[in-house]
Amino acid sequence: MFEINAERLWDTIMETAQMGRTVRGGICRLTLTEPDREVRNWFVKTCQSIGCTVTVDEMGNIFARRPGKDSMRRPIAMGSHLDTQPSGGKFDGVFGVLSGLEVLRTLNEHNYITSAPLEVISWTNEEGSRFNPPMLASGVFAGVFYRDFAYAREDRDGKKFGEELEHIGYRGQTKCGDHELGAYFELHIEQGPVLESENITIGVVTGVQGQRWYEVTVTGCESHAGTTPMNLRRDAMLACARMVQAINVIALNHAPLAVSTVGLVEVKPNSRNVIPGSVFFSVDLRHPDDAVLSEMDKELRKMVKKVAKDMAIEAKLKNTWNSPSMKFDKKCIDLVRTAAEESGYSHHDIVSGAGHDAVYLARVAPTAMIFIPCEKGISHNETETIRPEHAAAGAKVLLNAVIAYDKAL
Ligand SMILES: [Zn+2]
Repeated sequence: MFEINAERLWDTIMETAQMGRTVRGGICRLTLTEPDREVRNWFVKTCQSIGCTVTVDEMGNIFARRPGKDSMRRPIAMGSHLDTQPSGGKFDGVFGVLSGLEVLRTLNEHNYITSAPLEVISWTNEEGSRFNPPMLASGVFAGVFYRDFAYAREDRDGKKFGEELEHIGYRGQTKCGDHELGAYFELHIEQGPVLESENITIGVVTGVQGQRWYEVTVTGCESHAGTTPMNLRRDAMLACARMVQAINVIALNHAPLAVSTVGLVEVKPNSRNVIPGSVFFSVDLRHPDDAVLSEMDKELRKMVKKVAKDMAIEAKLKNTWNSPSMKFDKKCIDLVRTAAEESGYSHHDIVSGAGHDAVYLARVAPTAMIFIPCEKGISHNETETIRPEHAAAGAKVLLNAVIAYDKAL
């Protein structure tokens, strides 16, 4: 078994955590912003300095390739994303990319040349916080979205994805999806409490639950907060509040596996003495079983209609993104499990509650994921924390799963 350099891996994570660092010790590195450019430049330079050939495709995905003995073979890829939520942590995404880098550094030290080339990939806009939908660029790579659909996505300020990509200098020449991957392994923090609560080091991820996103616009009537009698109001915020409550109940009705969230709300005109005339909000529904998810979808549509009718307001619901539940490749899963077993780490099969680039990659290449615990399961939060020994364990499993895949070719 190869050993990775735990200290080097940790130091590298801490080094990139400076780019977009927030005062509370988290990271704000929204996709295609200045901190994103900064970390991309760092990643490109670092990969080149260890002998990789770096290419950037037309979606800004970065591929760092280490040659194998047989250049005709499709590369075995490792990767994740470098972007974060507005108040993100130091590990979500970047941990998977930097562990890939650590794998290459380790192999360089051992002068170990794989048969197939290896690639470390950073996917653009995994988070979907600035540009909806998430996993946008891995989606284009896998043929789920068209490039021009992606370019036309707008952030809340009306800035277009394509122009912002150009602006930070990462609109590459290579066509997105131009080369096939032999396999794809993504290491990630769990972002949930299961591994920690069971005292397990490695999560062998067998699949990802289904997920649907919606946008709701509620339109009532703006009017004076002092002079409009209660019975004559058409308060868009009140309608939104009732819907938010009902959306929570939809998930509770499908307990324990269903989850539902309203995480983004914009009130107009957002003034303390004006009755809100319009509210925009997002809805996120998830469940491991697509049939249950369809049931939740029906309940959501029915409920929005009913609240709108009862309150004599207008409500438009748009389904903006669906990601069906996904099962990973059996052979890749087995290699992850074996690597964990042979390293002497406790491990457990687990279904991911979060979406990941691996979901789309699984459509075009044999794919698996590796999870490590994060403290109290907290993620998408500046306090997100992992233990250095777990980070090292995850990277070691990644390395040995990749090597095993290559040996079996
Ligand atoms: Zn992530």
